[in-house]
Amino acid sequence: MIRNLLLSLALIATALASAPASAQSSAGPLPKVRLFTTGGTIQSRGAHRQKLMEYSDGKVTPEQLVNDLPELKEVAQLEYMEISNVGSPSVNTEIQLRLAKEINAWLAKPESAGAVVTHGTATLEETAYFLNLVVKSDKPVVLVGAMRPFTAVSRDGPFNLYNAVRVAGSPKARGMGVMILLNDEINAARDTTKGNTYRTDTFVARDLGPLGYADSDQIVFYRKPTYRHTSKSEFDVSKLSTLPRVDITYGYQEDDGTAIDAFVAAGAKGLVLTGGDKDAIKRAQEKGVLIVSSDRKGSGRVVESEKAAAEKRVTSDNLLPMKARILLRLALTKTSDPKEIQRMFNQY
Ligand code: ASP
Repeated sequence: MIRNLLLSLALIATALASAPASAQSSAGPLPKVRLFTTGGTIQSRGAHRQKLMEYSDGKVTPEQLVNDLPELKEVAQLEYMEISNVGSPSVNTEIQLRLAKEINAWLAKPESAGAVVTHGTATLEETAYFLNLVVKSDKPVVLVGAMRPFTAVSRDGPFNLYNAVRVAGSPKARGMGVMILLNDEINAARDTTKGNTYRTDTFVARDLGPLGYADSDQIVFYRKPTYRHTSKSEFDVSKLSTLPRVDITYGYQEDDGTAIDAFVAAGAKGLVLTGGDKDAIKRAQEKGVLIVSSDRKGSGRVVESEKAAAEKRVTSDNLLPMKARILLRLALTKTSDPKEIQRMFNQY
């Protein structure tokens, strides 16, 4: 009897000694993190293990995702909620609004530590920036995706998810705004874009760099976003069921304004342009369409100027066109005054 008891104690001691560092060092109960799933490659299956680039989105359920990774239990008390299970080009206003409202409800609970969102990488940065502007909490929100399907040899999804949950549960990540985590890198929603079609280090903040890293020894941050976000944001979607239509046109040689006219005819309330035909821009403005000038180069600023102000154009600072579209949609829920919208572009 005593021998059996000692044997059990010895087994427990051995188990504790071999437990991973993260489990041993966590003082007190593990943080409560909720996973909100929307789909994307991280939840997709290919025909066989070598298929990296052909797969269908949205086949892996949140339950399968979580059960596949028992190590998550060592870093958080994890709950999950499915918002959608689609490829990210299909993420729309309805999904984004529901996601924002559910995240806000979760983070308002005193016991919650943070939130993780699975998302396809193609438009992940758009949802991340949207949430950065409408989440009403300093608690961490981390968007995670994968470049390789769930079924692939050497898939990147599980470790990305593991690290995203670690960051969402980390007190160090509070007040950092919405973050993007792939490839061990913690990036700011506002500054980051998908920079490569297939490589696993695809998310880049170009001239600004990552906020920090999720490494095995610790979650480490080197800088903080300075633009307004989350709890300091003036935007509120709690009572909204839709957002104004805003479209983007890409400037190029011999662009004759056909796209601008078509978007205006389709009901656009705002347009983000990277160039464009001057007469078509004037026609759009005469119909009350708000114009934001962005740029197609992928990094650098579009500065405020007397010329832009005189032409009642808002300049986008260093926001890429797809991010400028998100901000303009939210701005138009408050005002259509170009000066006031320029103030928003200078602050967010
Ligand atoms: N097709 C995917 C998407 O939903 C791409 C990805 O997730 O990496 O965006």
